[in-house]
Parts: sequence; C-alpha cells; structure tokens
Amino acid sequence: TKFSDLNLDQEVMKAIEEAGYESPTPIQAGAIPPALEGRDVLGIAQTGTGKTASFTLPMITRLAHGRARARMPRSLVLAPTRELAAQVAENFDVYAKYTKLTKALLIGGVSFGEQEKLIDRGVDVLIATPGRLLDHFERGKLLLTGVQIMVVDEADRMLDMGFIPDIERIFQLTPFTRQTLFFSATMAPEIERITNTFLHAPARIEV
Ligand code: AMP
Repeated sequence: TKFSDLNLDQEVMKAIEEAGYESPTPIQAGAIPPALEGRDVLGIAQTGTGKTASFTLPMITRLAHGRARARMPRSLVLAPTRELAAQVAENFDVYAKYTKLTKALLIGGVSFGEQEKLIDRGVDVLIATPGRLLDHFERGKLLLTGVQIMVVDEADRMLDMGFIPDIERIFQLTPFTRQTLFFSATMAPEIERITNTFLHAPARIEV
C-alpha cells in the first residue's frame, strides 16, 4: 500500500511528505481505509507501530472541511497520561499543519483558564486525559454532543490506571452516532467488554 492509495486529503498528504514518511505502516494501511469510510475501528497495536497517525490522519481528513462551534469540539482523543496526550497533540500539529483545524490539549497540572478559553472559542479536536476532560465537563462549559469522532488510545493502560469508568461515562456523553477509533496493545476481558458495548461493527486490525 502507498499513502497515495489511501484517499487522504491533499493537505494531509503534503504534511506526510514533509515528515518524510515513505509508506504507511501495517496499522496505518489497515486502519485508515475503514476509518475514512466512517466505520468504527478496533486497532490492536503497540506503541511504535505508527498508530497515532493511523487515527490522526483519517480524523483530519474527515474534519478538514467543517468548522468548530463554541464549546462543542468535533472530535475527542483520550490518552491515559499527560505525556501521551501531549505527544498526540504534537503529532496532530505536524499532520494538520496545512489545514485550518484547531485543537486544545486538556491535561492536569495546567490551569483551567487557558484551556477554557480555547474551548469557548471552539476547537475541532480536543486531546485529553479522561479525568481532566470530566473536570472540564463538570464545570459546565464543555458540551460533548457535537463529537463526531472519538478516539481511545492505549486502552490497556487506561485499564491499568483505573480509567475505565471514566471512559464509559465519556462514551455516554457523546452521541450514539459518533465514529469510534479504539486502540489497545492487548485485549483484556474488560477491554473486550467495553468494545462490545460501545463500538458498532468495528473493523478489527491486529498488527
Ligand atoms: P507511534 O506508534 O504513533 O508512536 O509512532 C512511532 C514513530 O513512527 C513516530 O515517531 C512517527 O513519527 C513515526 N511514523 C509513523 N508513521 C510512519 C510512517 N508511515 N513512516 C515512517 N515513520 C512513521
């Protein structure tokens, strides 16, 4: 598979070329086509396989031609730790460089004020740790009813850290019609249960 076979947006293709990527990794070749079709994806992949791009590139392509509204992010990426959320945000900046898409990073250890300002203005992509996202939600200024795409990254670490109840709550706050892209290195029974409950006929890609 070549990147040019994947139907990614021109702006995204330009960013990939600039990053020096020559061909998609297996998780990218497997996950990007169903994700672009709007299907749910269950990706079983370790970090280092290129999985961040496998959800970020189709997400950018699908969101590229709409606009964010105040307090209603159009997509949501959940990561287990501040560091991982910050890494996803860095990747997003690289891949979305030639689009007008906006993002906010919601992680602990940073004041609410700046993050709230961004949410108020309207962002296309919210990248967050589960606890911090729910803190913002409880403060009453964040609506998740506009979420079209929800990504759960490193679900197995979410499980280890006790975040599964938060993840379930967040799923329930987003529309039933959302697209879900869900990634885990392993499929523990509790992870299997969550995916059976919240994913709709996912394309399952294991690398
Ligand atoms: P990840 O598994 O998402 O953490 O990505 C691991 C590393 O691989 C990151 O440094 C990416 O920039 C890089 N990467 C992702 N996709 C590709 C690709 N198709 N070709 C070359 N490098 C890539």
